[in-house]
Amino acid sequence: MAIMTRNFNSVDMSDPKAAALAVKRAALEMGADVVGIGNIERWANAPLQMDPKQIMPECKSIIGMVFRVERGSLRGVEEGTFFSNYSAMGYGGLTYIYMPMTVINLSKFIEDQGYEAIPMGHQSDWRAIDTYGKLKPNYSRPVRPGQACPDIMVHLRIAAYLCGLGEIGFSKMFLSPQFGPRCRVGIVLTDVELEPDPIYDGPQLCNRCMACIKACPGQCFDPENTVKVNLAGHEVEWAKIDENKCNIAFRGAEHSGKEQADPYMPESDLVPGEWSPFYHKPKNLYNTGQAVCGSRGCTRACMISLESRGVLQNNFKQKFRRRPVWSVDWEKPYSPEKSGEEEKFYVD
Ligand code: SF4
Ligand code: SF4
Repeated sequence: MAIMTRNFNSVDMSDPKAAALAVKRAALEMGADVVGIGNIERWANAPLQMDPKQIMPECKSIIGMVFRVERGSLRGVEEGTFFSNYSAMGYGGLTYIYMPMTVINLSKFIEDQGYEAIPMGHQSDWRAIDTYGKLKPNYSRPVRPGQACPDIMVHLRIAAYLCGLGEIGFSKMFLSPQFGPRCRVGIVLTDVELEPDPIYDGPQLCNRCMACIKACPGQCFDPENTVKVNLAGHEVEWAKIDENKCNIAFRGAEHSGKEQADPYMPESDLVPGEWSPFYHKPKNLYNTGQAVCGSRGCTRACMISLESRGVLQNNFKQKFRRRPVWSVDWEKPYSPEKSGEEEKFYVD
């Protein structure tokens, strides 16, 4: 018996419409929940450090894919009993295992037909710019005059918007009409010409209800201060978010203002906030999974709001929030040994 291999050049990609259909079918079969396409011209005004053409100058199309975060993976943090599932399955694992598998497989499908494809299903951990878009000092330098500093960061939420997959909400979260903010985005850059999808113009998703802003445990948003951008001729606006505040709050911490002998995170004045039940920040899961806040404002509150308005396609038989929001009173002592409750917690 002879060796077996993949079928090369089996799909005619010369017609952009037929090629787009083939690529979309493949993306869904490979695990994407939604797929859309943007032509590279939509990135014409991208800043140098976020310009996909800096990575692939011959890029013609960007394929955007939405991957849902299962609503169930937020259940444990909503109930306050099982926090690791969202950080593992809905965050780190999705970003570093599931999305890479899909975008790699889709890229292989495209390369089988003789076109180059760059799979991008991860965060830009090596990027040259910080969360405020400024170049990190002494980090990297351009390898040729006029080029960007490595690494480029293609803005995934903006890419999803430019691929026609949904809106960017007031929270700066990408909102898909299927899942709202309960999703992540992967993309593939390719030099094959694919028929683009129109920019999303469906039912309005974000109605400025401000639920995200009110429920954010770190009070990270400044709704009076907004960012306005023009994306492929469309004005998009979101509230300014203090990324440094989020960086602390999403891990379950808050500043106490004084050095702690046994801080929540090493060498700091950080203590657990009322939205964390942990004495110390638990270890990261799948590289980046440490979302102790369970995206209380920007995902859960927003999702509840969108679901209650009936604007999402992935709707459920039961509402998400079924019990009052919990909070931890860190002033109050807790010792299961003394209260005799210890044996209730486990079996040998
Ligand atoms: S919670 Fe309301 S204001 Fe915030 S992004 Fe969602 S829909 Fe928009
Ligand atoms: S991740 Fe948490 S702390 Fe950060 S903006 Fe969202 S709700 Fe606020």
